[in-house]
Amino acid sequence: MRLVHSPIFFALVALAATPSFSKAVTEADLRSHVEILASDAFEGRKPGTEGEAKTVKYIAEAWAKAGLKPAAADGGWFDPVPLIQRGQGSATYAFTAKGRTLQIVSDDIVLIGQKAAYARSNLPLIFTGAGVTTKGQVAADVKGKAAVVLFGADNVPDNMKSPRARREALIAAGAEAVIFVGDCQGNWPTLRRQLLSRPIMLETREKRAPLEGAISTEFMVGLVTAAGQDWDKLRANAKQADYAGEALGIDADFDVKTDLYRFNSSNVIGKIAGRKKNSGAILFMGHWDHLGICAPESAPDRICNGAVDNASGIAVMNEVAEALAKKKHDRDIYFLATTAEESGLLGAYAFADKPVLPLDQIIISLNIDTIAIAPRGSKVAIIGRGTTPLDAVVETVAKKMGRAIESSTDANAFLQRQDGWALAQKGVPALMVGGSFADLNLMQKFLGSDYHGPNDELTDSTELGGAAEDADLHIALGRYFADARKYKSKKAGE
Ligand SMILES: [Zn+2]
Repeated sequence: MRLVHSPIFFALVALAATPSFSKAVTEADLRSHVEILASDAFEGRKPGTEGEAKTVKYIAEAWAKAGLKPAAADGGWFDPVPLIQRGQGSATYAFTAKGRTLQIVSDDIVLIGQKAAYARSNLPLIFTGAGVTTKGQVAADVKGKAAVVLFGADNVPDNMKSPRARREALIAAGAEAVIFVGDCQGNWPTLRRQLLSRPIMLETREKRAPLEGAISTEFMVGLVTAAGQDWDKLRANAKQADYAGEALGIDADFDVKTDLYRFNSSNVIGKIAGRKKNSGAILFMGHWDHLGICAPESAPDRICNGAVDNASGIAVMNEVAEALAKKKHDRDIYFLATTAEESGLLGAYAFADKPVLPLDQIIISLNIDTIAIAPRGSKVAIIGRGTTPLDAVVETVAKKMGRAIESSTDANAFLQRQDGWALAQKGVPALMVGGSFADLNLMQKFLGSDYHGPNDELTDSTELGGAAEDADLHIALGRYFADARKYKSKKAGE
């Protein structure tokens, strides 16, 4: 019998000839990654733990299997990120006025040093109000003194609202110690926790005072009253526009021990090398870390698994890597899984400070974070809308995939809360694109419930539909921006 090529045979040939990269990412694909990354065995993926070791190994193996090449500075997969974790040790303190030791009933005080041991006698205290003036400047003479600062600040510029910004301004002005005073914002335990938050710091970047601390309002009132001063009057004075602070006539003796744990965490970096040398690069990024064992010993479930935040983003990035590595592209495509996002975008800042490629070569960076929120059919929002010339291009690619566009800038509320911000500050066109930030009611529902708690874990009802669609969108964006004929960049001398 002769072989006759039937229409079905031709159809099969045609199918086989369809490049395999057109296969859509499924919920099951994503679930298989999240299942592992957000399992209890990974202990909540806290930097510096066994959970980190398992996580970065899993990511590097997935990328190697997909066909990526290692792209860290030393030629391997991992770029070290030097971190320090600070913890409260022990502290003794005494306050004197005119040679008299002040008796304070409250012991609502937290003291933490930059080094393991800090001892100092006769350190003068200066009350600085909010720490900076309405113009954002340090007017008080804080050099070599302990600056006492109100935690809340209404009358300062927006960029000085955060205690961190004011602390850094005071350190720059030479303050030896920065001590925040709680001012009627909730109770002391809450405030104390806020002031002790972010125990993990990036060694190469952090600006800390030799001594930092926090005291409750009650402690402050006891202190100034014992020294013969009037707290209400001090507070009223501090409301003046150019308040230059006032010496409290109080000296402090401190002897503070601080627990310091130094360790290297890792950013994972991989790459698909492009065909065209020096034609620019695309960067996909997402944070691998989460909060680790986060609940008290008495809690029934102590592990913050971070299924949505951000095992889902790593799952999407792994699928994007696998799809894009199946084909050659003109431009280099980099993949970066960052550490310590939860401690203040620290891995992203470490990358931005010591990038493995010149930052001006990056045509677009796309961060993927907390992506398992919205169902299929969601609109596409852009975090960073209006901050780059790329919105229209991203929208064209999304529309081609049948996606509707959320054209408001509402999602920009999250601009500074995600890793892309570390790159945006250095001029990299950095966006976050997808459905999870298109319906902010859905996002707020997550932020108000399972977010950063032991319940952010993978269940049968975890919504991965929107994330699967967003994975396809990222693959399409990667192909588009990596194609030098489709997307012409002014970068790299094109
Ligand atoms: Zn988080």
